[in-house]
Amino acid sequence: MTARPEDPPPRPPGAHADLLRRHRAVLPAWLALNYDQPIELTHGRGRHVWDAEGRRYLDFFGGILTTMTAHALPEVTRAVSEQVGRIAHTSTLYLSRPMVELAERIARLSGIPDARVFFTTSGTEANDTALLLATAARGSQQVLAMRNSYHGRSFSTVGVTGNRDWSPTGASPLHTLFVHGGVRSRGPFAHLTDERFVEACVADLTDLLGQAHGRVAALIAEPIQGVGGFTSPPDGLYAAFREVLDRHGVLWISDEVQTGWGRTGDHFWGWQAHAGSGPPDLLTFAKGIGNGMAVGGVVGRAEIMNCLDANSISTFGGSPVTMAAALANLGYLIDHDLQRNARRVGGLLIERLRAATAGLDLVREVRGRGLMIGVELVRPGSQEPHPRAASAVLEAAREGGLLIGKGGGHHGSVLRVAPPLTLTVAEADEGAAILEAALRATAADPS
Ligand code: PLP
Repeated sequence: MTARPEDPPPRPPGAHADLLRRHRAVLPAWLALNYDQPIELTHGRGRHVWDAEGRRYLDFFGGILTTMTAHALPEVTRAVSEQVGRIAHTSTLYLSRPMVELAERIARLSGIPDARVFFTTSGTEANDTALLLATAARGSQQVLAMRNSYHGRSFSTVGVTGNRDWSPTGASPLHTLFVHGGVRSRGPFAHLTDERFVEACVADLTDLLGQAHGRVAALIAEPIQGVGGFTSPPDGLYAAFREVLDRHGVLWISDEVQTGWGRTGDHFWGWQAHAGSGPPDLLTFAKGIGNGMAVGGVVGRAEIMNCLDANSISTFGGSPVTMAAALANLGYLIDHDLQRNARRVGGLLIERLRAATAGLDLVREVRGRGLMIGVELVRPGSQEPHPRAASAVLEAAREGGLLIGKGGGHHGSVLRVAPPLTLTVAEADEGAAILEAALRATAADPS
């Protein structure tokens, strides 16, 4: 008989505590775990996951925006198992049909003329590669990045990560200048209108470029900051930046690791909210494209992508199994117009959460686009970030059967909601009701 996801395999008493003890004994302490009692997930179907005790949760974080369409999507499962059954791995030393097909598809979708694609196994490696290419193309180690940003945990990407909580060391091979603009509702320009905000950020960028020692290779930026707390700059900010960047010969890297593939509803890529910017020179992607399989990459203008004068390989980047998963996942996403679903259901969810939290002074703001929604918490009566309340809401939501993202953004005070893009209206309502109850319970308990 086939086991149902809700039927946990039998396990001895104390198995969960034992696994947690072993995890802590063998994995580094800086590897973040959610919840006071971390969860062991064993199954997933659609928008739901089950833990080892058989408890079911509505998944409003999809791994970390990695389950883009649905858990255990049959189309992806089939593509992966067929490919594993034929050949699991070949390396980039051989021609690979799935890799070429996916690269063609992404090159077309990117909007970048005459694009080339390089596959990696993570978002960090994608950004690392983009920085390597941009600095090589421009012959400079000097780069621009946004304050409060997150781009990964490698030597070069921590150097362009402006979010202190996620950049454990200032050491980096790059010299980085940090620009204002990624966060609309906080910081020195928060009181300005959108138009004045953009002007102030452009002035800041221009000033920084004036102070730079010689050439600046690139600006790397997330169209909506993910780990930074789902903060959207005003539409058009990057179009205004682009003019200045072009004048100074600075390349633009759009980090679409969280914002790509229609998640933001209105657009397929985050950069498209900045009408007039034109496509970026380099665009990085990862997370959701493989629906949980490790696929990342860079797509960019041929002249930059081809600038390295060396032999190189990627042992696992472009692996046929992950390419097959991504092709099936992307095909499903486009055939079912999930971007439209993200816009429609995400719009309803934002409205529902705004209505539910109106008058709750624990909640400073519900913001977002499509199915990328942030709920920022503050100490009541102030604008002070409230990370402890964010942890309490996370725990209470879990009790209610809902998984969300732990507070990114301002000192961990933002709850992040990013369900798989197949989310239904009924599931959005159910999740919003659980989250509302968790927020109300936390607001009622001043401890
Ligand atoms: N860039 C952004 C915008 C991210 O949100 C992340 C991860 O959260 C990364 C890069 C790094 O991706 P990965 O964890 O796959 O290395």
